[in-house]
Formats: sequence, C-alpha cells, structure tokens
Amino acid sequence: MGIQKVMVIGAGQMGSGIAQVCAMAGYNVVLQDLKQEFVDRGMGIISKNLQRQVDKDRMTQAEMDAVLANLTTSLDINSASNVDLVIEAAVENMDIKSKIFKQLDEIAPAHAILASNTSSLPITEIAAVTNRPEKVIGMHFMNPVPVMKLVEIIRGLATADEVYAAIEDMTKKLNKVPVEVNDFPGFVSNRILMPMINEAIYTLYEGVATKEAIDDVMKLGMNHPMGPLTLADFIGLDTCLYIMEVLYEGFGDSKYRPCPLLRKYVKAGWLGKKSGRGFYKYE
Ligand code: NAD
Repeated sequence: MGIQKVMVIGAGQMGSGIAQVCAMAGYNVVLQDLKQEFVDRGMGIISKNLQRQVDKDRMTQAEMDAVLANLTTSLDINSASNVDLVIEAAVENMDIKSKIFKQLDEIAPAHAILASNTSSLPITEIAAVTNRPEKVIGMHFMNPVPVMKLVEIIRGLATADEVYAAIEDMTKKLNKVPVEVNDFPGFVSNRILMPMINEAIYTLYEGVATKEAIDDVMKLGMNHPMGPLTLADFIGLDTCLYIMEVLYEGFGDSKYRPCPLLRKYVKAGWLGKKSGRGFYKYE
C-alpha cells in the first residue's frame, strides 16, 4: 500500500505540525482548512519552525525550500480526490469529524486510508459513518508535533492489518515511534494524562495552592518538564474539556467529571495559549 500523497485536514496547531513532518519526510502534502487566514496561519507556523532549523544550522536553506515545495494548500475538501492518505486534525468534536469522514469517504479514492488525529474520540464510531471502516485508523500525534516522538496508533474494531502496517511504516518514515493501542475512550495517553490535568484544575479550584505552586510541585517534585496547568494551556482548554467529557461519557464513571473551573474558562473563551489567555496570559 504505497503512500505518496497526503492530505491534512485542519491547519491548526496539530494539523500544521503534521503537514510539516510529512513534508520533511518527502511526502507530497496538501494542507486544508475552512478559511484562507487559517491556512495562512498554519503555513506561517511551518515556515517559522523551518527557519529556526536553518538559523541553528540543522537544515540548509535549500532543504527548507524543498520541504516547502512539498506543501500546497486548499480550502476545498475535494482535494482528497487524488490522495493516498488523509490525516484529519480538525476540532475535537464528533459531529464535525463524522461529517468530514462521510464526505471523505465519497471523495477519496477507494484505496485511500482515512486517519484521524483525534485525542479521544472512538475510531470505531468515526469509521462507522464510512463504507470503508477497514481503512479508518487513529494516528494520534503529540504536541508539538515536530518535537514529540510518539504517535499512538489506534485500531478501530474493523481496521485491517495491512492498513495498520502501512501507517506503522509511514510513522517510522516520519522519524516517529509508533505505539499500538486499542480503541477505548482516551486511548492510553489521554486516559492517564487528562485526569491528572483535571485534578490539578480541581486543586486550583479548591484553593489548595496557586497555579504557579501547583505547576512547581509537579515540575520540581515529579520531574515533569512542564506543570499540568501550563500543559493544559498549551493543549487548549477546549480540547481538555472535550476529552474529559469523552472519558466521563465513555466510562460512565464520576471520577472523570470535568472540573467546573475548566468549564467556566472555556465558556469565557479562555482557551489557553491559542486564545492568549488560559490559566496564564500569553503575548
Ligand atoms: P486547533 O483549534 O488549533 O485547530 C483546528 C483547526 O481545524 C482550525 O484551524 C479549524 O479552522 C479547522 N477546522 C475545523 N473544522 C474544519 C473542517 N470542517 N474542515 C477543515 N478544517 C476544519 O486544534 P488542534 O489543537 O490542532 O486540534 C486538532 C485535533 O487534534 C483535535 O481532534 C485534537 O483533539 C487533536 N489533538 C490535539 C492535541 C493538542 O495538544 N492540542 C494533541 C493531539 C491531538
């Protein structure tokens, strides 16, 4: 199953990173979003990341130009008509993802694999809206994509072995480490990470300590490179809330209830670094 042309849907923080690493590995990539300004912002992030590599002598200008030449942009989902793989990285919302996968199933060639970068939504349910559930798979990159080594690869109930093998092989070509997991709410990464972040938010909500103190305890005491509240800001508080809702609903266990303070921040539009304010303020 040869993968040469890749479409990435959503040019946000994850989609732009995924497009960048695919282009760096020599794949032909089309990066798609709903508005020109979103696509431009995504391409701007990629150029800035690559320029930093050139400035640090980790990449030549010619190499950077070659990576950029592998990238094109689109505002039209019909660009999926001639690709071998689609990696969807739109917002964490089942209705939106279902709609996208239904359309992709009609547009993409029969051989194309449809992957989702979802952090927590059931791959089996996403696959069920298509007529090719055996070609639907989870490809869960970590943030920031160009830096983080792990890709959690999630098998839906119907995912074919050769599709898994093709995605595992491609992940290695991206210079990442694939880890296989089954389709359960939050997979492995967010089933463990997100309740910890939610508990840190409860600790703040209950006035146990300041946000800085909570982050310091986890950084200095547990050797985490980043405190949980800073990490939540980087992930996006809307994404964190959505993942907690998926865990809460998926397991039906009250231990996963999202902290009311998290809900309040999201309702206020305090989404973290991407909106300029979350637990902390950003320039
Ligand atoms: P983001 O808000 O930065 O970007 C989402 C992008 O998708 C936006 O540019 C938006 O315009 C676009 N979009 C929305 N609907 C679309 C549609 N119908 N067609 C095309 N584009 C559409 O979000 P993000 O942080 O990049 O997250 C994207 C996905 O990756 C989510 O499913 C999220 O759960 C997952 N994820 C996020 C992280 C993280 O740390 N933020 C890590 C791993 C996985």
